[in-house]
Amino acid sequence: MEEISFKVNSKPVLEESVLDWNLVQKSFKKSFGEEIYTSWLRNISLLKEYNDYVILGVKTRFFRDWITSRYADRILSELKKYKISINRLEFKIEPDDPGNKTLFTNLSINKVSDIKDSVLNYNRLNPNLNFENFIVGKSNNLSFLSAKKICGQLSRYNPLFIYGGVGLGKTHLLNAIGLELSKDNTVMFISAERFMYQFIKSIKKNEMVNFKDFFRKASVFIIDDIQFIRGKEGLQEEFFHTFNTLFDQSSQIVISSDRAPNKLDRVQDRIKSRLSGGLVVDIGSPDFELKLKILRKKISDYQNSFKENPDLQEDVIDYLAKYSNSNIRELIGVFNRVVAFGKMSKKPLNINDCKIILKDIYNSSKVISIDKIQSVTSNFFSITLDDMLSPRRSRPLARPRQIAMYLAKKLTPRSLPEIGRKFSNRDHTTVIHAVKTIEKLLENNDELRKNVEELKSLILSD
Ligand code: ADP
Ligand code: MG
Repeated sequence: MEEISFKVNSKPVLEESVLDWNLVQKSFKKSFGEEIYTSWLRNISLLKEYNDYVILGVKTRFFRDWITSRYADRILSELKKYKISINRLEFKIEPDDPGNKTLFTNLSINKVSDIKDSVLNYNRLNPNLNFENFIVGKSNNLSFLSAKKICGQLSRYNPLFIYGGVGLGKTHLLNAIGLELSKDNTVMFISAERFMYQFIKSIKKNEMVNFKDFFRKASVFIIDDIQFIRGKEGLQEEFFHTFNTLFDQSSQIVISSDRAPNKLDRVQDRIKSRLSGGLVVDIGSPDFELKLKILRKKISDYQNSFKENPDLQEDVIDYLAKYSNSNIRELIGVFNRVVAFGKMSKKPLNINDCKIILKDIYNSSKVISIDKIQSVTSNFFSITLDDMLSPRRSRPLARPRQIAMYLAKKLTPRSLPEIGRKFSNRDHTTVIHAVKTIEKLLENNDELRKNVEELKSLILSD
């Protein structure tokens, strides 16, 4: 659908709409439970949907603050199930008062659908992702200093190329650079994906001249997730020319990527060489100290915004820093979740509570191998791995074997035949039988349930 036909609001929304809000609401209900859902989530509406974020409507400021502090991360992961590209939520307060609604719509009504407007919608810098909020440790110090440095000396290091794995703070740093420089410069901040989308649209609409003009006006050009151009020849061609024009006119260019320039396969060599021609820095996984610092910052943020203490005990903070994955986005999610549970259960949580709360977060994010499950399980029951995998059917061997199969099914994405193969080439029907047997036993065998829980936390926690 062409956005131009969407008169009420000219933002490029509908063409990308894939979220079925009713469905999403149903899954909120399922995953948050009836109580939280009815009290907090049922009244959230979907106002706008973009490729990488959504704007959600809530009735009051209080609702917004409550929801963002407690549920934002989980809402985001629910949404991601339906649309993987979403990585941010924005809330808008939309009181029932119809007067306000009109105002909101009117604000955007006179925007014309052209490149400028639609890019502007994606060019918004997030005021919270600034340098002050960026916690520095060993793994990100160099990137941080480089980002600061280019802000003081524009186009001295050109381009600045920051790379590293997901959730380590690349977008945060890029955004901080944008904020810092937007005071005195024309800053363009765009993801490579969005750049492509704009590019294709301009070709379709015969607006390539505008497209080129528009991007080349930037005195600071920041492009996020450049790895997206891999394998896309036409896009690379256009990016190359944009890059050269900007570079020749001494615009500062800042780029992020999930890998180093020379590791960008299926990207033209001439582009790779441009990308590595300035300052290349990597951002690594946070160590224990940095994770601890980030948690402490989150605690003080929490205190400032809610005027109450999140009630985390020292050993719990320690535990979170130690056992969370090396991904800052996830660490923050874990923090929010633990605090929310603490508030709900009205008592300070201990480490064991945390283990339970974190179980499904780890479940979904940690890669757990069947080998690991097998070795932990056989150890746990003090039998050898060979015995556990052997054809022997005596109960002391068969039960642990079935438990291991059950855990393999529950904790890994492996299919039944794959699991069967890993257990000395057993048939998938054997695996089904094992899973069913254990599920049945779990219903009323406390001893078994305890063992399985313990096994899970052993498997998940190291
Ligand atoms: P990436 O772009 O590398 O995937 P992001 O920049 O989106 O990662 O960071 C993920 C989340 O973690 C964001 O909420 C960001 O604000 C936060 N974050 C990352 N690094 C830091 C840091 N050093 N200090 C504070 N917050 C951070
Ligand atoms: Mg990012």
